[in-house]
Amino acid sequence: MRPAYDAIVIGSGFGGAVSACRMAQAGFSVGVLERGRSYETERFPRNWKDPADGWLWTAGQGLFDVRPFEKMTVVQCAGLGGGSLIYANVHLRAPHEVFARGWPRGYSREALDPYYDLAAYMLDINSIRQSRHLGLPAKTRVMADVAASLGRSAQFCYPNIAVDFGAPDAPHLNKFGVTQRGCTFCGECDIGCNVHAKNTLDLNYLALARKCGAEIGTQCEVVRIAPINDGGCHYQVEYKDHANGGAPLQCKARYVFVCAGAVNSTELLLRCRDVHRSLPNLSGRLGYGYSGNGDFLAFAFNTERPFKPSEGPTITTAIVYSRKEDDFDNWFIFQEGGYPKEIGALLQLLNPSRGLFREAEVLSRDEFYNALRRQTAGKYGYPDPASDSTAIFLAMGRDLADGQIELHALSHDLKITWNTSSNMPLYGAQQRFSADVAEAMGGNVALNPLWRLLHVPVTVHNLGGCLMADSKDGGVTDPYGEVFDYPNLFVLDGSILPKATGVNPSHTIAAVAERNIEAAIRRFKSDPTWRAPESSHAAPIVDPLRAISIPAEGTLPPRTPAVGIAFTETMKGHLSKGWNPPEDYAGAEKAGQAAGRRMEFTLTITMPDLDAFLVSPQHAGKAVGTVLVDGFTPPQGAPVTDGVFNLFVDGDQFYQRRMLYALPFTGSDGKPYLLDGFKDVRDHGHFDVWGATSTLYTVIREGHSHQGQVLATGIVRILIPDFLHQLTTFTAVGAKTALQRAAALTRFGESFFGSLWDVFVRPHFE
Ligand SMILES: Cc1cc2nc3c(=O)[nH]c(=O)nc-3n(C[C@H](O)[C@H](O)[C@H](O)COP(=O)(O)OP(=O)(O)OC[C@H]3O[C@@H](n4cnc5c(N)ncnc54)[C@H](O)[C@@H]3O)c2cc1C
Ligand code: SF4
Repeated sequence: MRPAYDAIVIGSGFGGAVSACRMAQAGFSVGVLERGRSYETERFPRNWKDPADGWLWTAGQGLFDVRPFEKMTVVQCAGLGGGSLIYANVHLRAPHEVFARGWPRGYSREALDPYYDLAAYMLDINSIRQSRHLGLPAKTRVMADVAASLGRSAQFCYPNIAVDFGAPDAPHLNKFGVTQRGCTFCGECDIGCNVHAKNTLDLNYLALARKCGAEIGTQCEVVRIAPINDGGCHYQVEYKDHANGGAPLQCKARYVFVCAGAVNSTELLLRCRDVHRSLPNLSGRLGYGYSGNGDFLAFAFNTERPFKPSEGPTITTAIVYSRKEDDFDNWFIFQEGGYPKEIGALLQLLNPSRGLFREAEVLSRDEFYNALRRQTAGKYGYPDPASDSTAIFLAMGRDLADGQIELHALSHDLKITWNTSSNMPLYGAQQRFSADVAEAMGGNVALNPLWRLLHVPVTVHNLGGCLMADSKDGGVTDPYGEVFDYPNLFVLDGSILPKATGVNPSHTIAAVAERNIEAAIRRFKSDPTWRAPESSHAAPIVDPLRAISIPAEGTLPPRTPAVGIAFTETMKGHLSKGWNPPEDYAGAEKAGQAAGRRMEFTLTITMPDLDAFLVSPQHAGKAVGTVLVDGFTPPQGAPVTDGVFNLFVDGDQFYQRRMLYALPFTGSDGKPYLLDGFKDVRDHGHFDVWGATSTLYTVIREGHSHQGQVLATGIVRILIPDFLHQLTTFTAVGAKTALQRAAALTRFGESFFGSLWDVFVRPHFE
């Protein structure tokens, strides 16, 4: 690489390839710094016996960069062409409503359409229906039938994919003069297409950039950017040359384009702001707005019709789901997947009927990873006959983009905070939809084990972190990707997208990059008419999502109900009216006992969606039943229809939890009252688990609010005979099979006893 360029582009994925190509076409000298290797035909890793041999990004080499953060597992690519090397080729436009919220001025679907057309032309996209030589893969036909059997044909489509459907394996030149071959249906798109039938970025945008003089340095990992003022150059970029043992090198440029992908661009800028302090004025919003694009992974085993996941390009079909649920605008797209036959034996580990993962049900996170390592050893590289009846699904949707990428304050390690709980309506619907599809195939659904056991999603569609915004208070760059307070420094990749696209995002990343680089070049060249030379060839194309029809009331809900837990609880005790001080529960109870003033209730507590219940910090359930409070209700009691129960809400200390009961009722005088109680679950030193979980400190308040005046105080308790009865009332609501019922009750029990462990046992080891 030379010491100076007009423009340096960091990263060669969708944002980087577009930026490098257009800057070079516009006559600027361009240097591309890409951390990964370049992959010629037949050079993608295939040594199944050794994961370190080119597969995993470690020590400056490897195709897959897998980062298991505590709340999210991130999968990205390292290589010349970025994510295009291992992606599933899908190019879909974000529907117009995506741009209605959170995007800065100037963005709309209509405004972006010409740039989508341009990217579509460059990447030569078309649908599986253009596969004339090999016809339709088995899984494509199965999915069309599944959509019909679920009553979802109107939401079914064949998305566009960037695949060459010329004669299989036959070499020919693409429109940029690069040799490609026709798709052989080998099913290896996600591990790199060794015949170059995928229209990856190195074969179009980057090839064109090179033709126009761009220099590309691979295995060059950028670690620092700093402003300079040196002969027209505004920035110095420092990088490690992994081809030479990580030797530190630097080069400088007038313009710098950060295109390292959502997680890595954000990390690079966070380090420049907070560790190196070379870009100290970056926005305080850096790292915010992270989204996993609502990714959800699931499987179906033992399908009746052969699905043949290793035949054909990875993704060929899609079904859209769109309906308002509990104030959540649920929108996601469900796609079938595929995988190389060599991982067939490995995937069978997830097959519930083989049960090899059963031991994982009771494992901690670390134990789980150890079990995974143990069980997967020796399973790579082997097909399995059961693979033909195994399906893999990827759903993605409009999550809330409420995650954050940050550096740990002391270690400076990268962290991703993700709010699974707030996004649970989306994940819940995707989970149930996956079960519907598996059932329609006559198979058994299985979930990504990290999700099933720990509720950690896996995403391949990282977005956000360096959001575009109208002002520095809202984001990191302006609506054209130029970093606030750092002129000529741009971010042009998935990190600037302000919201989840819901659909596979590469097409939108490329279209936004085309739009923004055009504006930048017009400014740099003082030429308001500059356009990408290919613009004139880029005809509008048919968007498969336009043909989809969504009924006014939304698409059908999933047939598979959510699985929840319900149980009935009776508590009995005494209270005193007007007791002072009101927080003297024991005194009020004693006086109440002496006066024979009873307080008791029988409630059915329901958590209708166990998954949502477990991940929510409020752990809320609905309580319905009868309360009897002497002096307030008639002797037969008053109904509670809208009570709220919260199990194990965190207290001020990690070893303290509270269980909360809020039971609104109407008194015999027709006035509203609230039975407001808490169980104080903490270790008072004598390991009284029973006392802590069976004693409810209670007040009766005026009105239905927690702010209402306290009118009476007392304690209600679970008595042993009532508890023994309670144990017989636990049921798994919505479970279809005995296995589902048992699994739900086990998970609820594990969570319950896990919290008790945290309160009563863990503090003694800390
Ligand atoms: C298995 C898989 C399947 C997918 N399927 C699809 C799909 O079908 N459709 C779709 O739209 N999307 C898909 N995606 C997602 C898609 O790949 C990404 O959304 C897209 O590639 C992001 O583009 P980008 O420009 O933001 O960054 P990337 O494409 O991730 O490119 C960033 C590049 O920067 C390089 N880099 C990172 N850090 C540095 C550094 N410090 N110095 C130098 N270089 C650096 C990386 O090596 C990488 O090449 C898939 C992803 C995966 C992993
Ligand atoms: S199926 Fe995928 S990997 Fe195989 S030839 Fe076709 S595009 Fe390439």
